[in-house]
Amino acid sequence: MADKANKVSENVPGPYYCDYECIACNLCVDTSPENFKMNDDESNAYVYKQPENDEEKSACEEALDACPVEAIGNDG
Ligand code: SF4
Repeated sequence: MADKANKVSENVPGPYYCDYECIACNLCVDTSPENFKMNDDESNAYVYKQPENDEEKSACEEALDACPVEAIGNDG
């Protein structure tokens, strides 16, 4: 389970976030490109936009469930 005390600094405010357990596998960026990006040095992913519709919410949930190290959280 992701740790909200360990959120990566680049996340925008809101329910979804990545934490520093991220291993930069890119899965969330592929699954939910409207919401996740890799940071500039590609060391971790982050949420650059919170989901704004049901389609994006589903994609974020899919990414959360599929993240291999449980580095994606939803505290909304
Ligand atoms: S799926 Fe998880 S480990 Fe992979 S880039 Fe996204 S947050 Fe990082």
